[in-house]
Amino acid sequence: MEAWENSLKKCITSPEELAGLFHAQGEDLAQVVRRYPMRITPYYLGLIREPGDPIWRQCVPDPAELHDFTQSPDPLDEERLSPVPGLIHRYPDRVVFLVSTACAVYCRFCMRKRGVGCQGMSPAPVDEAVAYIASQPQIRDVILSGGDPLLLSDDRLDQILTALRRIPHVEIIRIGTRAPVTLPERVTAKLARMLKRHQPLYVNTHFNHPREITGQSARACARLADAGIQLGNQSVLLKGVNDDPQVMRDLMQRLLAIRVRPYYIHQMDLVQGTAHFRTRVADGITVMAALRGHTSGLAVPHYVIDLPGGKGKVEVASARFSPDGSRLTVRNYLGDEIEYRET
Ligand SMILES: *Cc1c(COP(=O)(O)O)cnc(C)c1O
Ligand code: SF4
Repeated sequence: MEAWENSLKKCITSPEELAGLFHAQGEDLAQVVRRYPMRITPYYLGLIREPGDPIWRQCVPDPAELHDFTQSPDPLDEERLSPVPGLIHRYPDRVVFLVSTACAVYCRFCMRKRGVGCQGMSPAPVDEAVAYIASQPQIRDVILSGGDPLLLSDDRLDQILTALRRIPHVEIIRIGTRAPVTLPERVTAKLARMLKRHQPLYVNTHFNHPREITGQSARACARLADAGIQLGNQSVLLKGVNDDPQVMRDLMQRLLAIRVRPYYIHQMDLVQGTAHFRTRVADGITVMAALRGHTSGLAVPHYVIDLPGGKGKVEVASARFSPDGSRLTVRNYLGDEIEYRET
């Protein structure tokens, strides 16, 4: 067994274990965990300094998750945009391929909270998904996601990448993973060597707070960068975690220092069970204003909203606001004018 598989065995998965460690009360959380599973790696647990801090908020269940009825479990209509199970084909030239439904840590704000870590969502049947991609010559970009693709074994991932690489029209492959943040030991020299054989390959990781940047996560990123893999980062704006201009600037700068290029800051999707993390778009704009011009242009990502109904990602910078600021009008990639409400 590899060291990272051993770490997964040592994860905390119940409120009782957590209560034992932090003298926090566990009883409220049992119900939450029945609906939305919990898993925290020993490494990520070690980053918590005290209950309620930015690391804690991202991984420890909150009763508020069960009190959010206003929003949809699947606001981006991913299920409707799924030609075969586990494949999301929204934009003509690129496709999201959900190869795993497991993650090292179950983030409380996850946009696929409806199924990640649960029985309800199953990974794509690989043969069927690959056959679909092969049959659609316009697909030039395949994004492996989930769940976390790096929770698959090296061999399994190698098989999937090899199958995709056999398709002549697939130009680039991206892997979205939080492993460098939550399970850095997953990024072994062996993994980096395997990935290197499937270039051009891009890895987008997901740091949300400067305290997630440690010697270990820096080494994981360096391993990938040394294999010639371009590293990007997608953060989500989260209340009480990184909705603060100084925190976000610090994060972006430290990412560059570990050779990761900030790519997106996402406005939280309107996903059921995550309302307690939502910030206002105006707060995101304040965060962005503290970046542009105040730090390296390389440290300035695109601030985007993924529109409900699968209408695509749009840049907040190009939105028009209603006079009271509660409604935004945006134009998506198809040229459609869409009104976005913050509720
Ligand atoms: C985000 C996303 C993509 C990739 O978008 P980029 O802007 O190219 O990074 C592709 N498909 C779906 C369904 C997405 O949500
Ligand atoms: S790693 Fe990504 S997919 Fe997994 S729980 Fe966190 S946000 Fe969701």
